[in-house]
Amino acid sequence: MVGGGVAGLSAALTLARARRSVLVVDSGEPRNAPAAAAHGLLSRDGVPPLGLLRIGREEVAGYGGRIVSDRVVAARRVAGGFVVEAASGRRFRARRLLVTTGLVDELPPVPGLRERPGPGRNELVRKGTCSPSRRFAALHSSALRA
Ligand SMILES: Cc1cc2nc3c(=O)[nH]c(=O)nc-3n(C[C@H](O)[C@H](O)[C@H](O)COP(=O)(O)OP(=O)(O)OC[C@H]3O[C@@H](n4cnc5c(N)ncnc54)[C@H](O)[C@@H]3O)c2cc1C
Repeated sequence: MVGGGVAGLSAALTLARARRSVLVVDSGEPRNAPAAAAHGLLSRDGVPPLGLLRIGREEVAGYGGRIVSDRVVAARRVAGGFVVEAASGRRFRARRLLVTTGLVDELPPVPGLRERPGPGRNELVRKGTCSPSRRFAALHSSALRA
């Protein structure tokens, strides 16, 4: 797995439970890191995003999955699978490759916007205090859909 956010760790957990050999390489920058709490997750509403990932890592490790903190900089197909290169210089070989690297938000240059968590951003758009432009509202909602 390249990327150990909720998507990568969920896949890793399922595969590790199915007795697959699992390695997650993660650079530790989940999209919701600026948010104080994640909401709408049944049984964990309000959990800090990084706390959620810590629990996920423990669950994956509990089934024998390995998690490595590193950034993947290249991946190429080889006979029988893939070779992945990390920024540290380490190389990993795998039969299958899942890319679960998430999204990076490209926000317009509005002062204070980057520091605002998701709901705060929506509020700024609604009130028109940050950017009255429809383009920004459309951009934000399409980012959420993606
Ligand atoms: C401000 C904000 C608040 C949010 N609040 C909520 C909420 O309350 N409830 C909710 O359900 N959702 C919320 N979301 C949405 C939620 O964050 C995303 O749905 C979720 O993070 C997507 O998970 P992911 O695993 O696809 O990607 P991410 O969480 O972004 O994880 C991707 C991981 O891949 C790693 N990665 C990327 N490239 C590489 C590489 N080359 N090598 C190694 N690792 C790499 C990153 O470091 C990261 O750890 C929020 C989003 C934002 C921006």
